[in-house]
Amino acid sequence: MIKNTVLVLSGKGGVGKSTVSANLAAMLARAGHKTGLSDIDLHGPSIPALFGIEKENLTGGENTINPYIYNQNLKIVSMGLLLEDKDSPVVWRGPMKAGFIKRFMQDTQWGDLDYLIVDCPPGTGDELLSVIGDSENLKGVIIVTTPQKLAVIDARKAIRFCKEIKLPVLGVVENMSGFVCEKCGEINQPFLIGGGELLAKEENAPYLGSIPLDRKVIESAEQGKPFVELYAGSASSENFAKIFEKF
Ligand code: ADP
Repeated sequence: MIKNTVLVLSGKGGVGKSTVSANLAAMLARAGHKTGLSDIDLHGPSIPALFGIEKENLTGGENTINPYIYNQNLKIVSMGLLLEDKDSPVVWRGPMKAGFIKRFMQDTQWGDLDYLIVDCPPGTGDELLSVIGDSENLKGVIIVTTPQKLAVIDARKAIRFCKEIKLPVLGVVENMSGFVCEKCGEINQPFLIGGGELLAKEENAPYLGSIPLDRKVIESAEQGKPFVELYAGSASSENFAKIFEKF
C-alpha cells in the first residue's frame, strides 16, 4: 500500500524538477520513511543518472516491474531503465504514451510505502492525466519553477490546471534562485529572484522555499549521487531541508 503519492511538476523542462524530486526522495528516505521514486519523464528520464544507476533489468514476471533497491528506505523506477537504449530518442504517439504510463504505474511492485514521489513529464498534457488517474492516495502536487518570467508563466498554467481538476497544490519551489558564491559559500542574490514566491502568493498556494544555483548541485549530478547526501550541511542543502520541513 502507498500511503501518500506526491507528484512533482513543472510547466517547463530544465527548471530542476528531477533534481527536486531526487533530493526530496533522498531526504524522506534519510528521515526513515519508506520511499519510492518514480520517474515517468518519457522524453528525458534523468533519475537513473542522478543516482548513478546503470542499466538494470527491472522487469519481473508478466506485467511486473520490480523497483531498483537504492537503499533500505529508497526504491526507484525509471522509464529510463526500461527503454532499450538510453542514448536513442524515443518517438511516442499520444495513445502509446498514455498506455505505457498506465502500465508503468500499475505494474510496479512497490510493496508498502510511506511516500511515492513521482517525477512527472513537464507540462499538463495527457501523460499527466494518466499519472493522476493511476496514483494511489494522491496527496497533491509540488510545482517547481525558476524565478524568471518565462518559467513562471508555465508554472502558473500548471497550478491552474491542478485547481481545475481539484488536485491540491502542496507548494511551489523556486529553484536556481540567486547563486552560491564560490569564494565565501554564501548565497548571493544579485539578479532576479522571487518569481516563484510571488506566483505562490498570487495563486494562493503555499511557498515551500528556494534553492540557489549551486555548482555543487551540478557536481553531484555528474557523480550520480543525490546532492543532499553528498553535500549534507552546505547552504543549499539547508535550503532543501527547510523545504522538506514545510512539506
Ligand atoms: P528538469 O527535470 O526540470 O528538466 P533537471 O533537474 O534535470 O531539470 O535540471 C536541469 C539541469 O540543471 C541539470 O543539469 C541539473 O544538474 C541542473 N540544476 C538543477 N538545479 C540546479 C541548481 N539549483 N543549481 C545548479 N544546477 C542545477
